[in-house]
Amino acid sequence: MLHEEQHRQHRVSWLRASVLGANDGIISTSSLIIGVVAANLAYESILVTALAALVAGAISMAAGEYVSVCAQSDTEKSDLLIEANALKDNYEEEVIELAEIYQKRGLAYELSLQVARQLMAKDALGAHARDEIGIVDNSKAQPVLAAVSSAISFTVGALLPLSIVLFASYENIAAMVVLVTLIALGALGAISSFLGGAKLHKGILRVTFWGAIAMIATFLLGSGFKA
Ligand SMILES: [Zn+2]
Repeated sequence: MLHEEQHRQHRVSWLRASVLGANDGIISTSSLIIGVVAANLAYESILVTALAALVAGAISMAAGEYVSVCAQSDTEKSDLLIEANALKDNYEEEVIELAEIYQKRGLAYELSLQVARQLMAKDALGAHARDEIGIVDNSKAQPVLAAVSSAISFTVGALLPLSIVLFASYENIAAMVVLVTLIALGALGAISSFLGGAKLHKGILRVTFWGAIAMIATFLLGSGFKA
């Protein structure tokens, strides 16, 4: 029998990104709508607010994601360049440096040198990138893909409260937005904790709590401006 335990790490990162994007889209758009509804604004103002929230949020998510992925990739590239130069200039010191890392992880002195030499004979930069700096594969950075996917997940989230503004009657907008937001956040929390292997109620409580806080805050703010 092959022993294969189920690891979740590989699907956590894209999942976390898209769930976060959708959470953001729902929470920020819903609480903006609650704020303007609480201030008694006209229907057109509420609709424009919801639309602007969707567009601004999606672009800001994309920009944030793009910048952060690029910055991460640039940092890794310059670290790799420093490392490549060190390998060129001081190969022997680099062998000892890597061996010391393996000793700290539990290998005996002789064995650590042997491992360092053999790994470096095959791919010196790769061995140092992985075990010294912690870079697994720098070529995987995809800033445009990351930007587009977080914009899409934000938009999907924001479409939920926006569609309530579009289709619910004026008097029901606030109540429907609160209800649908809490249900959707609960469902997202459940999905992410199920896929991420966490406790279900924790995942649900985490997101619905922050969604509720945001809507209460903007409700109080908007009420202060009530005409
Ligand atoms: Zn090194």
